[in-house]
Amino acid sequence: MPNRVYLDHAATSPIYAEVIEAMAKQMAVVGNASSLHTSGRNARSVVEEARERIAAALGARPSEVIFTSGGTEGDNLAIKGTYRATRRIDAARDRLVVSGIEHHAVLDAVEALVATEDARVTWVEPDGDGVVTADAVRTALEADGGAGTAALVSVMWANNEVGTVQPIAEIGAVCAEFGIPFHTDAVQAVGHLGVDFGASGATMLALSGHKVGGPQGVGALLLARDARLDPLTHGGGQERQVRSGTLDVAGILGLAEAVEKSCATREGEAARLAKLRDRLVEGALALDLGVSVSGYYEEGDVERRLPGNAHLRVPGCDGDSMLYLLDAAGVECSTGSACQAGVPRPSHVLLAMGIPEEQARGALRLTLGHTSTDDDVDAFLRELPAVAERARRAQEATRKVS
Ligand code: PLP
Repeated sequence: MPNRVYLDHAATSPIYAEVIEAMAKQMAVVGNASSLHTSGRNARSVVEEARERIAAALGARPSEVIFTSGGTEGDNLAIKGTYRATRRIDAARDRLVVSGIEHHAVLDAVEALVATEDARVTWVEPDGDGVVTADAVRTALEADGGAGTAALVSVMWANNEVGTVQPIAEIGAVCAEFGIPFHTDAVQAVGHLGVDFGASGATMLALSGHKVGGPQGVGALLLARDARLDPLTHGGGQERQVRSGTLDVAGILGLAEAVEKSCATREGEAARLAKLRDRLVEGALALDLGVSVSGYYEEGDVERRLPGNAHLRVPGCDGDSMLYLLDAAGVECSTGSACQAGVPRPSHVLLAMGIPEEQARGALRLTLGHTSTDDDVDAFLRELPAVAERARRAQEATRKVS
């Protein structure tokens, strides 16, 4: 296959070579981390060392690291587990306070509790920049029966579509004031922003290996020692009885390597990626296609928007058409929004930010990471005018027919 230009690091980022090497070596070694013999104890020490490395990189205590199969499981465990444990003790706490820009791993877990376990939800909407303020969280906590009816607050650390970073420490302080558990989905934040679990005020934090140069299918939930949470899986009682199941020793080792490396190289990488991102954005804006940028954006910024995230809207074009045309030209990216049951829908994130549906349909998400170069940005900017022109013609033709 000829060289492809990969601008979809938010979907999954290439695995680091040293992670593959470490995992391959570990995979060749037998050992269940729960076994008591020498091979089992050796596997256990790999797991415990990985736990310590992840904790050290993210400002957590080793005992707060619960290994999972990734971000989706971590989010589900945090939300369903906390809701069930809280409600069992205090039936009046039937309400989830959740931002309207969450990933479906959070949204659908919440909707499932509403549909089957009588949960209520108060949505916290972002401002036009895609930011969920601490004041908005406070207002939502005080609404719908007051904070005494809340079981959980969930606000993501950084948004996976538009890359906006949320004021997590401020939201954590509001949750602490009301004594409400606070979950944050930090899947897009870890390795790209300074993430300190202890300082964040979060009770639970989900992360995922494949977004930080680690393996797919492994992640962790950082869980405060005093958190009350019902397990979703029952069995061998691994991971503080919260997440039963034989541990993926090689995957966990790979996760630790990747978290450690992405955190250690973060500052230099953030500056490098922000430069590439800015060149991509400025280049697209200069193309005379009427492009606009979604979410808070300021040249050089590495704190309020993910350094590697560019989210563009091209008027008169359908995002999916542009995605396929770019793919045919060798450039891989995303529209940012999920296509449900084959029907492309405008992103709930853009709609929540007040972007009109017509504009939200022309969304393209370009996300950069550790393998990205100037050549990738050049290739995208070279292809975009012709792609937009063809997508626009296709859109006009569809309009005439319908
Ligand atoms: N949360 C966010 C913000 C994400 O971007 C993703 C993946 O795209 C997930 C959760 C799901 O993580 P995983 O793929 O590890 O299940």
